[in-house]
Amino acid sequence: MSNFTIVIHGGAGTILKEDMTSELELAYFDGLQQALNISYAVLAEGGTAVNAVKAALVLLEDNVLFNAGRGSVFTKKGVQEMDAAIMDGTDLSAGAVAGVRNVRNPIELATEVMRNSNHVFLSGKGANDFAIKQGVKLEPDEFFFSQFRYDQWKAIRDSDNYSLDHTNHHLEELMRDKKFGTVGAVACDMHGNLAGGTSTGGMTNKKYGRIGDSPMIGSGTYANNKTCAISCTGHGEMFIRSVAAYDVSCLMEYKGLSLQEAMDIVVNEKLLKMQGEGGMIGVDAQGNAAMIFNSAGMYRGTRNSKGINEVSIYK
Ligand code: ASP
Repeated sequence: MSNFTIVIHGGAGTILKEDMTSELELAYFDGLQQALNISYAVLAEGGTAVNAVKAALVLLEDNVLFNAGRGSVFTKKGVQEMDAAIMDGTDLSAGAVAGVRNVRNPIELATEVMRNSNHVFLSGKGANDFAIKQGVKLEPDEFFFSQFRYDQWKAIRDSDNYSLDHTNHHLEELMRDKKFGTVGAVACDMHGNLAGGTSTGGMTNKKYGRIGDSPMIGSGTYANNKTCAISCTGHGEMFIRSVAAYDVSCLMEYKGLSLQEAMDIVVNEKLLKMQGEGGMIGVDAQGNAAMIFNSAGMYRGTRNSKGINEVSIYK
């Protein structure tokens, strides 16, 4: 029996203490802690890493504070299109969905793809059809609405931007702090099995069916019992181009680096060089956790069988 560990994130970005009210800070801490607790309970009862990851992500998707499931950002067209992926490090099985709408918990749908389809990655209408077939819970548009995300989108919907326009101060204020609010979880269960998952609404004002790194196996999400489980958050295009999550695994497998060393190279050297703002969480098969980011903050937390239980936001 090995140590068991859960690590979660709720997105990275320009998250500064001076922009935060104490109520909001408390609400974030509370949301993160609840997600840690529910997946810790799964692991403590001997549950699998996959089920622990899923449990944490369902809770974070249901929490309107985070940009995933309920509370997802708006696309150029003013709708929510969500991406999610989950991977089981035991046998490298994986499931992912992109551009799904009205699915209450995209991570549930990704798990259905992993367990009950012959495929790995489903998108758009086909993925929604599969959700209906599998009886995955759907919700009307209103369920996903949040005023904050709507205001964020209104501020840039008439531009071609899908990210921060630094010349517009008002916009900067609106975009600040919530630029990347994706949620992710990685776990090592008591049998030494690893799993990772990520779920997101993507980036505000995205268009043309843009898909980020989160649902791409190897970029935003990866798990392999031989090395690690990783979930990323940040400017997806850079994480895709650098195949960030798999790169951590490769550095560990081929170069013998530790989880912390490998993540540090990818986040603070490789991604930084291409202005890839963001971060990632990871766990290895010994249950060691790491949380690394090159932005001002990252909503994050970890809990393990050795008694560590912590949530934090800033550097
Ligand atoms: N990585 C996500 C994306 O590009 C955004 C995020 O992490 O918040 O879609």
